[in-house]
Amino acid sequence: MLFVGHGSPMNAIEDNVFSRRWMQVGRSLGKPRAILCISAHWETEGTSVTAMEEPRTIHDFGGFPQELFHVRYPARGSAWLAAETKESLIQTEVRFDDGWGLDHGCWSVMKRMFPDADVPIVQLSLDGTRDAKAHYEMGKGLSRLRHEDVLIIGSGNMVHNLGRMVLRGNDFNEAYGLDWAMEANGLLKELIDQDRHEDLVDYRRLGRSVQLAIPTAEHYLPLLYVLGAKEKADSIEYFNDQAVAGSLTMTSFIVR
Ligand code: ZN
Repeated sequence: MLFVGHGSPMNAIEDNVFSRRWMQVGRSLGKPRAILCISAHWETEGTSVTAMEEPRTIHDFGGFPQELFHVRYPARGSAWLAAETKESLIQTEVRFDDGWGLDHGCWSVMKRMFPDADVPIVQLSLDGTRDAKAHYEMGKGLSRLRHEDVLIIGSGNMVHNLGRMVLRGNDFNEAYGLDWAMEANGLLKELIDQDRHEDLVDYRRLGRSVQLAIPTAEHYLPLLYVLGAKEKADSIEYFNDQAVAGSLTMTSFIVR
């Protein structure tokens, strides 16, 4: 299982420290039966799961080079995993969706981790009407999929405040973190390492640095799914643990 800080969509096509590490992580994980991706970029009212056979590649961003809009990630969907996901979330009504596809929170990372696009992928939406606790509990429900050789991936960013980005030049990946961003990233990691999930669910009480790090919930919530599906005995291994553009961190981890 993975939490991935996805950062700029350009990581899909740029050869940089982050995208290179994604390639290595993909190779080290081997090929799962299917992937369930919870991306920051699919917010809905109610919970949906993609159920189409051939999910389209969604270019849900603006202001990037044309080259990025030409990228396709032709992985297939999985009716089996869509049904298993619905089954796993008994307390939640899950709709089968045929309109979404793969957004860049998912495909920009997958393009690097599984470049052959030969693992079926299903996306699960974030129900914007539910609180953090509910998202965490849904993660718990999904944990059984891990025993079915499903790779669960939460894709967001632990620290993500676009309004406070410091862009010197035009490089979204310049290694640089504002003090509060570094502080929040460190604190969140500490809580993750200590399995202090209640504190992480109640992140609004974690003080000013975390409030600045998580001004809106959507890039943080995928993390709560991964923690919900984590078992006590699982270990955590961080990668791409770096701040960029002042107010984002690419911090990611493998749970196994
Ligand atoms: Zn994003």
